Amino acid sequence: MPAAQARSTHPLSAASHKGTAQLERRFDLPDEAATLAFGARFAQALHAVRQTQNNERFAGLQVQLSGDLGAGKTTLVRATLRALGHEGRVRSPTYTLVEPYSLDTESGPLDVYHFDLYRFADPAEWADAGFREYFDRGAVCLVEWPQQAGGLLGVPDLEFALEIEGEGRVLIARAFSNTGKTCLERC
Ligand code: ADP
Ligand code: MG
Repeated sequence: MPAAQARSTHPLSAASHKGTAQLERRFDLPDEAATLAFGARFAQALHAVRQTQNNERFAGLQVQLSGDLGAGKTTLVRATLRALGHEGRVRSPTYTLVEPYSLDTESGPLDVYHFDLYRFADPAEWADAGFREYFDRGAVCLVEWPQQAGGLLGVPDLEFALEIEGEGRVLIARAFSNTGKTCLERC
């Protein structure tokens, strides 16, 4: 097998084949307040989805946040957590890779995992840390630097791609599942 082909099957370099989005929406976020407002709308959309799906069956939601350093990924995660009722600090899990939140929200108890995979390098770490289970627990997983995990993450429910535009930001949001689509329709 040629070296290039062998490399492409490596989990960390495999392109994530998300396929065509079920829904794509663009949001102009001219200042930080607009990002905070979007986070609040996203939190409300999550409540609505959980309520219509009946909490028992809410299978969780994976959101991949892409964008350069300073694009506003952590700001959006912080806004979402605040809107879901988290009152304490939101630390950037740069070294711990993941920060867990156990929230008592208006749509019931909810686990949120905030990942920052910037320093994630070894696929063995994924299994050792039990990350797979985090995605199977009916939790909301918000993942910064998802490309660092290559194919390990699979196709997300939602992708939030943030870009710096002038003084502000542009958010391109894409849904790849029915749950993601229902959620994005309500943002
Ligand atoms: P990332 O996690 O993508 O590296 P951060 O959220 O840590 O980015 O930092 C983003 C920076 O940009 C912060 O200084 C924040 O105040 C600012 N910011 C966030 N959203 C906006 C926006 N919509 N317009 C302008 N500045 C923003
Ligand atoms: Mg960040």
